[in-house]
Amino acid sequence: MTETRLRFPPSPTGYLHIGGARTALYNWLYAKKTGGKLILRIEDTDTERSTAASIDGILDGLKWLGIDWDEGPYFQTLFNDDHIAAAERLLRQGNAYKCFCTKENLDAKREAALAAKQGLGYDGTCRNLTPEEVQEKEAAGIPFVVRFRVPERLGMLGYDDKVLGRIECNYREVDDFVIVRSNGKPLYLLCNVVDDIRDRITHIIRGQDHMTNTTRQVLLYEALDAPVPVFAHIPLTLDTKKAKISKRSHGEIVAVHFYREHGFIPWAFNNFLVLLGWSPGDDREIFSKKELIEAFTLERINKSSSIFNYRKDDPKFFTDPKAIAINEHYLRTLPIDEIGEMVREELEAESLWEDAYAGEKKEWYLQTLDLIRDRFHTLKDFTTLGRAYFAEDYQIDEKPLQKNVLKFPELQEWLPVLADRYERLAEFTAGEAERLARELAEEKAVKPGVIINGMRTVITGQLAGPSMFDVLMTIGRDRVVQRMRKIGRLF
Ligand code: GLU
Repeated sequence: MTETRLRFPPSPTGYLHIGGARTALYNWLYAKKTGGKLILRIEDTDTERSTAASIDGILDGLKWLGIDWDEGPYFQTLFNDDHIAAAERLLRQGNAYKCFCTKENLDAKREAALAAKQGLGYDGTCRNLTPEEVQEKEAAGIPFVVRFRVPERLGMLGYDDKVLGRIECNYREVDDFVIVRSNGKPLYLLCNVVDDIRDRITHIIRGQDHMTNTTRQVLLYEALDAPVPVFAHIPLTLDTKKAKISKRSHGEIVAVHFYREHGFIPWAFNNFLVLLGWSPGDDREIFSKKELIEAFTLERINKSSSIFNYRKDDPKFFTDPKAIAINEHYLRTLPIDEIGEMVREELEAESLWEDAYAGEKKEWYLQTLDLIRDRFHTLKDFTTLGRAYFAEDYQIDEKPLQKNVLKFPELQEWLPVLADRYERLAEFTAGEAERLARELAEEKAVKPGVIINGMRTVITGQLAGPSMFDVLMTIGRDRVVQRMRKIGRLF
C-alpha cells in the first residue's frame, strides 16, 4: 500500500474560517487514521490578495486547534518554475494552445451568444491555428493566454467521489479553459494540480465549491500523465436561512480566532467542527481525539449542506448553541489539571495569575476551579463570572444587586454583625458558617435566604453559584469577613 498523503492548501487572503478549519480537520483526521501525512501548502499565487498577516493567522489558528502537519508549509509562489514547465509541456504535447483572442473580442462574442441564447463557452477560434499563424501573431507582439485543449473525443466522463459517489460530466460542455494568463502567470487551476502531483497527494478532501474545478483538473492529471487522486467533496456550511456563512454577513463569528478569544477549548471546538458535515452513524456526539480518529471515515461525510446555527441575537448563545454545549461538556468534565493549565492563560492575560497557584496554593487553585466550573460556558467565565475568587475588583451584577442587596437596607447592619461572628469562630467550617447565618436570620425574623443571597451577591457579585458555604470556605475567612464589612459601599 502506498502511503496516504493529504494536504491543506489555504489561500492566505483572510483569516482561518470555520469552513477552512473543518476542511483542515477532515484532512488531518484522515491522515492520522490511515497513518499517512498531512502537507500544508500556502497557495499564495494571488499576490495582490495574499498577506503575511493572513498566513500568520492561519498558522496560529491551526496550531491552536492542534492540527499539526508533517510537511510544509510550502509556498506555492516558490514553485512558479514548475507551473510554467507544466504549461510548456502541455503546449508541447498539444494539450494546450495559445489563444490570441482579445478581451473585447471575447466580450462581444459572449454578448452575441447571450442574445442568441447560445452556450457561453469559448468558441475555439484559436484552437486550430497553424504553427505559422501562431508564430506570426507572436512576432507581431499580440498578447496571448494559454488554453487547455479539452479533448473532443470526450463525452460523459467523471470520477468517483468518496462522499458523493460517481460524478459525471458532459465534457462537450466544458470549454477550453485558460491555464496561463496573458501576463504569463499560470492560473490556480493548473498550479494546484502541479503542486499536488509534486507533493504526491493521494486524497483531496475539499469543499463542494471546488467541484467545477475538479471536472477540469482531472483532465490536467491525465494530460500530465499522473494518477488522479481520490476526491472527497465535503458539503458547504450554511446558516439557518441557507445562506453561505461569510464574514461580510455574519461577522467575526465565522472566524476561528473568535472562538479562541471567547474562551473555547481547542479540542471541544474540533469536536464541534467535525459534526458540521460528518456523523459517526450512531448518536455519539462527544469524541476524544483517539475515538474520533478511529470513527472518522470519508464515507460518513454528509452529502448535503450542514447548518451552522447562527445565533448572534442571543447573548448567551452568541454562536451555534451546539458549539457552546460541547464546550461546556469539556469544561466540566476534563481532568481538572488540564483545565488548570487553560485557565492559567486566562488569568495571566488578566494579570490575575499568582505563581503560588502552581506551588503551595495549587490544591486550592484546582479545587476552586472544580467548584465553580459547573456553571461556566467558556474559559473566559473564570475571569469574569469567577473573578471574585481571584481578585478584589470583581463586578457586582446589577440584577442580584437590586434583588438581593438594595432591597434589604438592613443587610448593611446585619452582614457586618455576621462577619464579626465569623471572625470569632474557633474554626471556620461550612457547617458553622451556615449555622451562624441561619441563627442571625432567626434573630432578625427574616428568611435565611435574605442573609444567604445577600452574602452571595456581596462576596461573589453573582446571582447564583455553588453552595454558598462551600464558596465561603474557598474564598477564605479573611476575604469573606472583609467583603461583608464593606457592604455599605454598595448603597
Ligand atoms: N487554495 C484553495 C482554497 O483555499 C484550495 C483548494 C483546494 O483544496 O484545492 O480554496
